[in-house]
Amino acid sequence: MADLRSLFHLAAEEAADFRESLDTRPVQAPADQADAKRLLAVPLPDGPRDPGEVVEQLITAARPGLMATPGPRYFGFVIGGALPAASAADILAVGWDQCAFNGHLAPAAAAAEEVAGAWLKDLLGLPASAGVGFVTGAQGANTVGLAAARHHLMRESGWDVERRGLFGAPRIRVLAGAERHATIDRSLRLLGLGSDALQEVAVNAQGAIDTDDLARVLATEGDDHDVLTVLCLQAGNVNTGAVDDLRTAITLAHEHGAWVHVDGAFGLWAAASPSLRHLVDGVELADSWGCDGHKWLNVPYDSGFAFCSRPDVQTAAMSYTASYLTGSGVAPGVADYTAESSRRARGFAVWAAVQELGRQGIADLVDRCCEHARRFADALAGAGLEVVNDVVLNQVLVGFGGEGAEADRRTDAVIARIQRDGTCWMGGTTWHGRRLMRIAVSNHLTTAADIDVSVEAVLRAVRSLDG
Ligand SMILES: *Cc1c(COP(=O)(O)O)cnc(C)c1O
Repeated sequence: MADLRSLFHLAAEEAADFRESLDTRPVQAPADQADAKRLLAVPLPDGPRDPGEVVEQLITAARPGLMATPGPRYFGFVIGGALPAASAADILAVGWDQCAFNGHLAPAAAAAEEVAGAWLKDLLGLPASAGVGFVTGAQGANTVGLAAARHHLMRESGWDVERRGLFGAPRIRVLAGAERHATIDRSLRLLGLGSDALQEVAVNAQGAIDTDDLARVLATEGDDHDVLTVLCLQAGNVNTGAVDDLRTAITLAHEHGAWVHVDGAFGLWAAASPSLRHLVDGVELADSWGCDGHKWLNVPYDSGFAFCSRPDVQTAAMSYTASYLTGSGVAPGVADYTAESSRRARGFAVWAAVQELGRQGIADLVDRCCEHARRFADALAGAGLEVVNDVVLNQVLVGFGGEGAEADRRTDAVIARIQRDGTCWMGGTTWHGRRLMRIAVSNHLTTAADIDVSVEAVLRAVRSLDG
């Protein structure tokens, strides 16, 4: 019978083995989900088993289905890759098994969120007085931000939405760019506002909000002059990396009494870099912000942050004893800033990531990823491929052979070959009606040499398709 200590050693050894293999293993997992399921679908046992055997068996069965997403040449989605101290801190969070509900239940876990939350506001250029909730990711953060918006606007017009719900409530419209992230739509559905509440604002060629169109839409309230307005802005378009003109858009929206939420899942990290901060100029003027830790801060999954300029609004919208807590002198617990109750202690890993890199290290991480994206773009364009977007951040969109169904098929075929080749991993996207290859650089491990071998892999895939 394995004791706890040897079991933990086994887990740590395996995790370290995996992480040390990232640079050399094929990025794409050898097993797909169906293969992985065959390996994991062992019989449900009738009784207890030896924990050591269970863990050994899990390792053997799961290994073939592990993607090298934390490695230096995974460029799909916007994935990040966990830092060493942040990873070890998350292992501790699991080992300590604290329930980060509030400071009575878990003093250190709650304090870590308070301390790390203050550092995050500093790094991201947000008001020091803002509320912070540690959530699962930007989906959770967007939901919290929009719930705060709903609470605030309704209360201003005399409606207690937490008590009375939305039946008979004043109407809310949500303005958002045509290229908003799809999580915004899900948040609106979950909050009972529904996707019909969305009024799309036009975007420019790079997918950033068109502020002239925003001014037009803000001014058109239809026959309903009492309509309440939320504006959702974006820092970091998932395809192009484009950032909305935040200062102009927020100023315009506030002139109309709107609440402004910024979805800055990865793009908000531009604020942490002195050379890129200009991209998010004016971000501090917004009312709520969503951001991810697991993407560009390189904290392990899952980790995101919901910030709100008014902590009392955030807790009034989220706390499940909101009406009793607000103004009662009872301090809200850390979970009162989120949509969850019992929670994993997410603060430890964030605390460790910020300590591991420091202000300069975080700026360097963001800058380096953007330089690598530029290197990708220059090399691929130099080889005659089409870079479709303005590379302003860490995202690159690549076309293979113009527009139309034939070009789309060719693009998908190239991507499939790249993924099979195993040197690196890029995904596809459909943007402005075209299939394109999408590259996101967001991992601290990635070097210029990784970009160069990945460019070679892309060109190899193109040549193999043509030859
Ligand atoms: C990734 C992303 C989200 C969703 O974030 P999760 O961490 O997956 O919940 C939302 N908005 C943007 C712009 C994103 O890039």
